[in-house]
Amino acid sequence: MKLLLVEDDLDVGNGVRMALNDQGVDVVWVRRLAQGVEQLQDETLDMVLLDLGLPDGDGLALVREMRRRARQLPVLVLSARDALEDRLRSLDDGADDYLIKPFALAELLCRVRALARRSGLSGEAEGLRLRGLALHEGTRQVGLHGQPVKLSRSEFDLLALLLKRNGRVLTRQALEEYALRGGTGYDSNALDVHMSNLRRKIGPGFIRTVRGIGYVIDAEPLPAEVA
Ligand code: CA
Repeated sequence: MKLLLVEDDLDVGNGVRMALNDQGVDVVWVRRLAQGVEQLQDETLDMVLLDLGLPDGDGLALVREMRRRARQLPVLVLSARDALEDRLRSLDDGADDYLIKPFALAELLCRVRALARRSGLSGEAEGLRLRGLALHEGTRQVGLHGQPVKLSRSEFDLLALLLKRNGRVLTRQALEEYALRGGTGYDSNALDVHMSNLRRKIGPGFIRTVRGIGYVIDAEPLPAEVA
């Protein structure tokens, strides 16, 4: 899971980042609203932790910007504003949950896990499932109708990302950055080779090419002739 943390307070930011890193969560931490909005371009994000009082504006502006871009990421608001109306305003604006500062890190982790579960992101705990295909991030196992499927590291990472974002197209760039990172320089065909192998292993009807853009696993089954 990869999470965007928008928080200007150094102590809170550091504490939250370390606690989440310990749980195996990648954290992108920025301290200004404008940087947070910039990070929304990152298609591999799974969730946003958002402070409301930021030096360059109200954190809720980021939620509104997400909605304007039709970007659907779960948002957990972290704020010292404990007035009921602020809480309601956050939830009205599209935040999913609200945690009042100061909070215990254990409670934050608990809320993040709960939000991940509600948003269908908890691959670590329950696995991702779609049309007979099951992927478990904790054990890195994949099954198709109960039969194990052996995937390479890159194939597994690509499939996990596509399954988490099912119904949303992922660009080639996002897939390359996320799943093919850390290689010794990959050529531009590498992604297509991995996708082709992945399709061969999990069968037709899952991964659809969106020409010139990237790939998607549709939430609903595809007509056979399109797959
Ligand atoms: Ca603040």
